[in-house]
Amino acid sequence: MCGIVAYLGQKRAEPILVEGLKRLEYRGYDSSGIAVIGPEKMRLVRSAGRISNLEELLTEENIIGTLGVAHTRWATHGKPSTENAHPHLDHTGRIAIVHNGIIENYTTLKQWLIEKGCSFSSETDSEVIANLISFFYHDRANLDLPEGRDEPAGHLTAATRLALRELAGTYGIAVICQDAPDVLITARRGSPIVLGVGDGEFVVASDVAAIIKHTSQAVYLGDNEMAVISRDGYQTSTIDNVPVASRIEQIEYLLEEIELAGFDHYMAKEIFEQPKTLKACLSGRLDTNEGRIQLGGIADISRELVRARRINIAACGTAWHAGLVGEYLFEELAGLPTDVDYASEFRYRNPIIEEGTIQIVVSQSGETIDTLAALREARQRGALSLGVVNSVGSTIARETDAGIYLHVGPEIGVASTKAFTGQVAVLTMLALYIARRRHMSQQRLSEYINALNRIPDQVDTILTQSDTIRQVAQEYSQRENWLFLGRGYQFPVALEGALKLKEISYIHAEGLPAAEMKHGPIALITPEMPVVFIATHCSQYEKVMGNMEEVKARGGRIIAVATEGDERINNYADHVFSIPDTLDELQPLLTVVPLQLLAYHAAVIRGHDVDKPRNLDKSVTVE
Ligand code: GLU
Repeated sequence: MCGIVAYLGQKRAEPILVEGLKRLEYRGYDSSGIAVIGPEKMRLVRSAGRISNLEELLTEENIIGTLGVAHTRWATHGKPSTENAHPHLDHTGRIAIVHNGIIENYTTLKQWLIEKGCSFSSETDSEVIANLISFFYHDRANLDLPEGRDEPAGHLTAATRLALRELAGTYGIAVICQDAPDVLITARRGSPIVLGVGDGEFVVASDVAAIIKHTSQAVYLGDNEMAVISRDGYQTSTIDNVPVASRIEQIEYLLEEIELAGFDHYMAKEIFEQPKTLKACLSGRLDTNEGRIQLGGIADISRELVRARRINIAACGTAWHAGLVGEYLFEELAGLPTDVDYASEFRYRNPIIEEGTIQIVVSQSGETIDTLAALREARQRGALSLGVVNSVGSTIARETDAGIYLHVGPEIGVASTKAFTGQVAVLTMLALYIARRRHMSQQRLSEYINALNRIPDQVDTILTQSDTIRQVAQEYSQRENWLFLGRGYQFPVALEGALKLKEISYIHAEGLPAAEMKHGPIALITPEMPVVFIATHCSQYEKVMGNMEEVKARGGRIIAVATEGDERINNYADHVFSIPDTLDELQPLLTVVPLQLLAYHAAVIRGHDVDKPRNLDKSVTVE
């Protein structure tokens, strides 16, 4: 959720902060603001709405100063407004904080602080952090100061530690104080924080996207850790002040990967990138000559994987749909009983983890808080864990026993596309890896490897239908209710197609197993209702045709995703998008692509801001 950027260095902070916010706008965009410590005092500028509103305000200001914090908000507590926008100042106006996350005990703390004489000016939970730090900062008697730290920077550090101890919930924060113009403090619990270490400058952010323009060296803060940054260095420790040896890591991706590259939207860029990203995801992992699948990240647990008795998959949203494809794959190919959970539900029931259970967690960002919580729960109950994650160095990647990265490059579009195909590709390779070690013949595995190798080019041919798909989207773009139906491997794809349409086109859409339709939803079908069938050549083809008949008989409009060369489909469908033929198990990698394009075009035609869909943000780091 939300974007945090903070800067301490030799350059003017303001343009660096604003540029960083723009890179993070996909993480939250209902309001934004910056606070910079200038020669005389703290300057605070905030605005409701998009970052462009903030920029406009800033043109009238002349903000100098080389230390500052900035934030783009995704409101959880309090409406999106200027007063609720971050940074928040303490009631004396000397300390500024930006916060990502939710402070669960903020009402109690707020009440307590009000009794102590603090005043508040926002409805947010975050403002208590500023006032709590301020309380300890001004109440020196409480501060346990190490020798030589009886000065503002030492006070601020000690006060921040004390304040953080009182907070329940999640946070990524950055803190500055007017009395300490050479220190920037950052800390995290549950929300990501990365410290970019440049040449005489430091950029703190909730996402490396705001850092890479300045440096490729980064320190990923661990949970319950904090960093105190001064002009000539930084120190990392736990919040309880136990020193932590920090490791500088190389940020893996390049600035051009997060540019639009001529596309109107990141979502379009990422849909069209899929032949390349799938190639990258498969590359080095499919050994065609030897007929083997090689997955370096799981080498340490390969024995346990092969002997596993059960797989649990936990994920949210699009990643959950990829997990559902995984369920079909693990059961069919590897013969392993598999369950898929909404990560947000997992720890609020009594999940039974038997011996030999492998917990797989799937998350593009590797920071999805519900998925992280499910991972921790499963590990605590004795499961061995495996992460399917895109963001290198993310919390989930670091907390799992083993993992497979997607290698699809940064995904900026809020509606996930290339991460979905990457997740499905990884789960497919994993299922095949286990299957071969359990019972699958070499010849059968080689067929899958050859078919997988063809997938990127096959996606390319699907993308050439973009204009046709746009015309269909145009014809139906004003219909407010859609159904997406599929069976077997295509059922999760139906769910994903419906989700895409909801997310960016704000059209109500439901995905269902095609056969379920007759148990209720068929009542909805009228000539007004577009019904998207994923009706490829597969073992359930005839059954799907039967379901199409049922829709046709009731006057529904049918859009079908079908296998190239299928003539029969024209008897049922009003519109057909073709996909090249492949093995049943690999079809989701192809069939989802026309549905991504359909949702994209519908959203553009309806005039929506595709990369900043209403109420959504990219990486959901609050529960
Ligand atoms: N809970 C805070 C708020 O509502 C932070 C939200 C965010 O992460 O953007 O302001």
